Amino acid sequence: MSAASPDYPRVFVLPGRDKRAAHGHPWVYANEVRMDAEAKALTPGSVVLLLRTDGKPLGVGTFNPHALIAFRFLSRDPAIRIDGAFFAGRLGRALALREQLFDAPFYRLAHAEADGLPGLIVDRFGPVLAVQAGTAGMDGCLPPVLAALDTLLAPDAVVLRNDGRGRALEGLESDVRVIKGRLDGPIEVKEGSLTFLADLGEGQKTGWFFDQRDNRARVARLAKGGRLLDVYCYAGGFAISAAAAGATEVVAVDSSEKALELAALSARVNGVAGRCTWRRADAFDEMARLDAAGERFEVVAVDPPAFVKSRKDLASGLKGYGKLARLAARLVAPGGFLFMASCSHNVEPAPFAEAVADGVHRAGREGRVLATTGAAADHPVHPQLPESAYLKAIILQLD
Ligand code: SAH
Repeated sequence: MSAASPDYPRVFVLPGRDKRAAHGHPWVYANEVRMDAEAKALTPGSVVLLLRTDGKPLGVGTFNPHALIAFRFLSRDPAIRIDGAFFAGRLGRALALREQLFDAPFYRLAHAEADGLPGLIVDRFGPVLAVQAGTAGMDGCLPPVLAALDTLLAPDAVVLRNDGRGRALEGLESDVRVIKGRLDGPIEVKEGSLTFLADLGEGQKTGWFFDQRDNRARVARLAKGGRLLDVYCYAGGFAISAAAAGATEVVAVDSSEKALELAALSARVNGVAGRCTWRRADAFDEMARLDAAGERFEVVAVDPPAFVKSRKDLASGLKGYGKLARLAARLVAPGGFLFMASCSHNVEPAPFAEAVADGVHRAGREGRVLATTGAAADHPVHPQLPESAYLKAIILQLD
């Protein structure tokens, strides 16, 4: 507790609408807040004290009167002061967890609500950090957050990747720039014994998909001694991991020339370029072509971009996953393995699994699910936000 209570503006939860917040949920929606003239006049992202209308304080958090998720808890302590020391505490705790999980400083350091840092993503690439604020609240808190990161890690360079999709919902502009130090081209990412190259300024998301780390290791193990097809390969995460683990040949497909250039470079760095083929193509077209050519692979890994970007795309997105699974399953050699992932947070695990099962069946294949997995542990999930477990993956063996 701070010595003196800071004088934050007050926002009230409507009578009877405080249950979820009181039971540990980290958000309060706009229709649960008393949206009077005072509340409406608050600058989006202001730090406020949340109270019940009977005066009982519930905690401190950020407030955006124009967003569907109006209030996000920073702390249940009504006397907390939100400053550099507060963020140093939260980031220090997040750092301690990652240091326990990983040997090398390459990971997602902060994963929003689950790390008590609503709206904040920080990816750590050794001495370089990629920082993303997804909400007006976190946007406003960036100065003390960046100061805390400097104190904790003294990074050589910091890239602001404020181009997440959620920002528009919060009325925020896209903003991508280097705010500390310099970035000269791609930087190295260490994953296990491998070194990948990532482009933090222009690459997708923050430049690297740390979330698939454990799945890459699982898939690589299955690909030993066989051929792997990596569909939506981006900078080569699955493909190069498999080649390094002893796959005899890897074919990788992506529509982005830049991603494929980085992948080819990484393959050389890891001494596996001779076993990797990079193809620029549409995933669906290329899978149909490979099927027509009679090509079969011991492992097919399919890690598409989010098909369901909003709830209204759910039915068409699930159809898309089913079609992908059908095309991919046809390419799996008898006894081989299919890995399919979805990073759409609007798709729950059960419907995704059904779409995959349906696709496999329509491909005329039978088999068994070996594992259903998610993101690696540096992407923790808030216990009351199961939808933040956005990454779902399924591994099957097909007869
Ligand atoms: N598997 C990757 C991450 C994939 S991200 C990893 O482990 O890091 C999704 C990728 O899909 C991006 O690289 C994007 O360029 C690619 N992509 C998007 N639409 C595509 C399409 N229609 N055909 C092929 N690739 C596509």
